[in-house]
Amino acid sequence: MIPLDDETKALFQEVAQHLGGKLVYLRFRPPPLRTAEGELYRDENGDLVIDIDPRWGWVHAFGVLLHESAHLKLHSHIAPVTTREVQAIGIPRPANARSSPLEPPADAMAAEWDSWAEQQAIKDAKERGYQPEDIDWQDWLWLKLINLKYKKDE
Ligand SMILES: [Zn+2]
Repeated sequence: MIPLDDETKALFQEVAQHLGGKLVYLRFRPPPLRTAEGELYRDENGDLVIDIDPRWGWVHAFGVLLHESAHLKLHSHIAPVTTREVQAIGIPRPANARSSPLEPPADAMAAEWDSWAEQQAIKDAKERGYQPEDIDWQDWLWLKLINLKYKKDE
């Protein structure tokens, strides 16, 4: 597991909130839903929460961030999860979870944000005199996150 520094964690939360357009608490911990890489739910206080499983590392977590933020933006109803279920970590996952009609629009929106952020990051890199291939993955991630944090609605 890659250690996650607080500054980047905070940036993840800001991006989720900005893209999703709602107040949300983002945490790096295994989601309650068994085998899920990330999960968006409403906790017992009524707060919106995104859990991202940190074990796959930052780059993977970034993909999960975009996907869950898309759900946050797209849906008005977010399923509640009880504190007991959150603590148990391992709610059986419905077999059809990935075939839910809610998934393709979230995937599409996440892909759109990702390619937009990629283009912006390339532009930023060039403006600073770097060739894209000279930039390491951490700087890429930061450039993408910073751009998404300030992304304007079209
Ligand atoms: Zn999903």
